[in-house]
Amino acid sequence: MAAKKIVTDKPKTKKAPALAAVAGGIPASDEMIYYGHQYIDYADVKAVSEALRSPYLTDGPGVEAVEKKLCEITGAKYAVVVSNCTAALHIACMAAGIGPGDEVITTPITFAASANCILYCGATPVFADIDPETYNIDPKSVEACITEKTKAIIPVHYTGQAFDHDALREICEKHNLIMIQDAAHAIGTKYKGQPVGSLAGAAMTCFSFHPVKTVTAGEGGAVTTDDKALYELLIRARSHGITHDREFMAHPTDDPWYYEELELGYNYRMTDFQAALLSSQLNKLPLFSERRKELTKRYNKELAKVPGIILQKEPEESDTTRHLYILQIDTDKLSCTRREFFDAMMAEHIRCQVHYIPVYFHPYYEKLGYKRGLCPNAEHLYERIMSLPLYYGLTDAQQSCVIEAVKKVAGYYRK
Ligand SMILES: *Cc1c(COP(=O)(O)O)cnc(C)c1O
Repeated sequence: MAAKKIVTDKPKTKKAPALAAVAGGIPASDEMIYYGHQYIDYADVKAVSEALRSPYLTDGPGVEAVEKKLCEITGAKYAVVVSNCTAALHIACMAAGIGPGDEVITTPITFAASANCILYCGATPVFADIDPETYNIDPKSVEACITEKTKAIIPVHYTGQAFDHDALREICEKHNLIMIQDAAHAIGTKYKGQPVGSLAGAAMTCFSFHPVKTVTAGEGGAVTTDDKALYELLIRARSHGITHDREFMAHPTDDPWYYEELELGYNYRMTDFQAALLSSQLNKLPLFSERRKELTKRYNKELAKVPGIILQKEPEESDTTRHLYILQIDTDKLSCTRREFFDAMMAEHIRCQVHYIPVYFHPYYEKLGYKRGLCPNAEHLYERIMSLPLYYGLTDAQQSCVIEAVKKVAGYYRK
C-alpha cells in the first residue's frame, strides 16, 4: 500500500458532551497536536471568579471544601492540599521523619521531584530498577536496594498505572519502611478496586494538579493519609510549622493573637481560587477518566498490530486512569533511533515528549556521584520511549491522525 497522506487536513474538533471548552479542548496551534493539554470549561471560570469575589483569597473555606472532596474521591481520611506536588512530596518526607543519614528508594523513570524531595530532607535517594514490561518500579530491585539505612520508599504510579502495591507493601512491612506514594499521574486510578490515595500500607499519597495532569489547579498538589498524627504534621509543615491549636502548644495561653511555630515549615499553601478551580475540575474527573480510558483502549487496539511498536503492559490489578500513553520503539526492528522516530512524528505535526530522562542522568545527580549503568532496564527503556498525545480534549479525528502518523513512521504501510 502507498504511504497515506496524513494530518495535512485540519482535524475536525468534536465538542465534548455537555461541556463548552473555554480553552484546552483545542491545541494551542491548529497545526500541531501536543502530548498533553488542560481542559477548562465555563464552570471552571465561574468557580474561580466566584472565589475571587469572596472575602478569602487564601486560607478560606475553598481549601477545606476541596480537601473534603479529595477524601471522598480517594477514600482517604485526610487530605492536605498544597501549592504543588513537589511541595506535597517534601512535606510527606518531612512528616515521615526522613533526614540526614537515611536512604529512600525510588524509581529513576520519573520526574525529578520524586527524588529531589529526598534531597530536600538531607537524605540519600537510592534508585531501584524498573520492570521492563510495566515500566513501574520492580519490587525485587527494591528489596535488593534495602540496607540498614533505608527508611522509606517512594514508588511512582507511572503513567497512572498502579504499581505492584501488594508486593511493595509486604516489603515495607517486612523491613519496617514507610511508603510514600507518588501518585502525580494517578488520580482516578484504582488498584484491586481501591482508589489510589487510600491503599492500605501507604502512609501518604501525593497528587499533582499541574496543567498536564488529569485535573488541574494551575499549580497544585495534595497529600492524602489515614493517619491523624501525620495529618497534623502535614498541616503544620504546609504553613511554617505554625499551630493555632492549644492542644499542641508548648506554652498555651488564652491570648487571642498567640500561635506557635513547632517545627521548621514552609509556605506551601494553595490559594482559595486554585482550590475552587481544583474542585470544579474534580467534578469532571469521571468524564476525564472515561475519555482517557477510551483513548487508551483505541491506541492499544490500533497500535498493537504495528510491528516495531511495543505497548506498556497493564497489570490486571490496575483500573487505570491513564495520564501518559507511552510507546516503546523497537529501535533494532525498525532500524531507526528514537530521535529519528520523534522527528518523523514532528514532521507529521505530532509533538510527542519523552517521560522521563532517568533522574540520575541529570548533571546535579552526576555530581552527587550517581553513575550511568545503575539501572539497566530504566536506561534501556529511556532510549526507546515516546509519549503520544493523550488528554480529555483530544478528538477522535485528532487521535486518528496520531495513529496514522505512528503507522506511517513505523513503515506499517510500506509493504
Ligand atoms: C508532575 C510530577 C511531579 C511534580 O508535580 P508538581 O505539581 O509539578 O510539583 C512529581 N512526580 C511526578 C511523577 C510527576 O509527574
